This record gives sequence, C-alpha cells and structure tokens, in this order.
Amino acid sequence: MDWLPRDTALRAAAFAEVVRLQRLYADAIPWSAIAQGFVFEGKAHPLSSKAEGIYAPAGHPAALSIKTTVPRKNRDTNPYVDELRSDERLMRYAYKEKGGSDNAANRSLRAAQAHQLPLIYFWGVAEARYAALLPVYVEADLADEWAFGIVPGELLATAHSGTHVHALFESRAPDRRYAAREVRVRLHQQAFRVQVLDAYEHHCAMCSIKFDEFLEAAHILPDKHERGAPVVNNGLALCTLHHGAFDRHLIDVSDDYRIVLHPELARRRDGNIFQAAFLERDGQLLHLPRRVEHHPSPVFLRERRRLAG
Ligand SMILES: [Zn+2]
Repeated sequence: MDWLPRDTALRAAAFAEVVRLQRLYADAIPWSAIAQGFVFEGKAHPLSSKAEGIYAPAGHPAALSIKTTVPRKNRDTNPYVDELRSDERLMRYAYKEKGGSDNAANRSLRAAQAHQLPLIYFWGVAEARYAALLPVYVEADLADEWAFGIVPGELLATAHSGTHVHALFESRAPDRRYAAREVRVRLHQQAFRVQVLDAYEHHCAMCSIKFDEFLEAAHILPDKHERGAPVVNNGLALCTLHHGAFDRHLIDVSDDYRIVLHPELARRRDGNIFQAAFLERDGQLLHLPRRVEHHPSPVFLRERRRLAG
C-alpha cells in the first residue's frame, strides 16, 4: 500500500488543524473555519466537503472525514435520523445513496475500514456549526441497513510527527459501548446548548447577562422525564446563578412567562447582588426568544411545577 505513508502524514496534519479548531471553538466550530482547510506539503486541502457527507482528499482512496448536518426544517424535532438508529455500541452513518452502494464515497469509507484509518466526524450541533469527533473508526459495513457502523477512538496526543499518527490515535476507548453512548450524550447536550443559546440570542432569560462563559441551557422537564427532550421549547438560556436556583425550584416560571420566586427565597435578604438578581426579578417577564415556536412550552412549565409539588 504505497499510498499509506503519505495518507498518514496528511491525516496527521488534518487532525492537528481540527484539534486547533476545537481549542478555539470547543464543540461549536463554525463551518467558515472548517472551510479554511489545512495545510499539507505547502498546499491548502479541504477538511470536509460542503455538499457531501463523506470526504476523501483528491487522489486518496480512503475517506478523511464524515459530516452530519442539522436539517433546516424540523430542527427542533430530533433531526438526527442516523443517530436514532444507533445503538449502544455503534453510531450509524448512512451510505451515500446516489450511485448505489458501491459508489466512490462509500468505497472510500470501506478503504478506511480495511486499513483501520482514523477519521474526523463533523457532527452538526446547529446550522453551520459542528462538534468534531476524532478519531472515529469505521467498525462495520452494515449492508442491510445501508449504513456504516462508526466507533469513537481516543485521542492520545495532539502533537504529530508526520508518520506517527497511528501511534497517536490507534488506542480505542477501553469499553467502546460506553464510549459510543457517552459521546452521543455529549453531542446531544452540546447541540441543545447551542440551539437554546442561539434562540435566546445569548442572554440569560432572567437577568439578560450575555456572556457565553456564564450561560447554560436549562431543561424545563429534566432529561429523564419521558417528555424531557433536548428541544428548544423545553429549554431556557440561564446564567449559572439563575440555573442553580431554577434547578432547585427556588425560582420558577409561570405559564405567562413571569418569574416566580419561591417564598423561601423571597424571604431571604443578602445584600445588593441578591436583591438585584432575585428579589427585584419577582413577577418580571422573561426575556423570550424572537421566534414564538422557541418560547418555553406552557405545558412543560406546568408539568415542571407539578413535579416540584
Ligand atoms: Zn441570569
């Protein structure tokens, strides 16, 4: 396989660039940054294709990256079709359909599987923003399902010296079942956070503070509730202070979107910050998203208050 050494060096350069992007943007890398590509042998190469999910560099038999985007429509109703079919062990990545099962794109993933080459998985968390998973490996070719089974690996080191990318990446997580589930949970949480913060234009719904470092996506109905889906109308963008109070039911929201302090909290006195953050908020309206379909569901709010007793 005379193409392998060069492929390995190219992969190392691509991975180093994606690690750099992760440091800059965490799990919400803008497409505009991914589209800049990476430099290898003095030339710019794409990291991914805008139009295609599966990307192999020109002249390389094996895919370098795969991508899942958030659909424009029904974005709030669990768009991750591939994910829904995934199980504990494998993440499903659908075949490219056009041109049949044996088209060039699918062949490039089979080549990655045959040589156990590490790939990058750009996983859409919101429109034009991606979490990057790396490395991932093609573990199975599920012809009956028209999908590949993908498993996450473990990033052992981010430095690279050209040909040593295998040594850096080949160790997979010790329990892959656990790893695939963990990864999926992290990705869904990240997607929820990005979508909720976007809906609220990166402000706390209660105090308007607007620094992402202090903002979180709160669940109205918790994850474990049967209706506690990670969708925007089951979320509130809250700063860490208000999120803490909300999670403890010290502060709540009425059906008409007013802030309601728990009597226990309303009785307390603790200086100016407490006064401004809590006492003066009582009865005020939430800062709501522009889009009505993003407003908190009154049904969920009612159910939440019922659960709190
Ligand atoms: Zn706040």
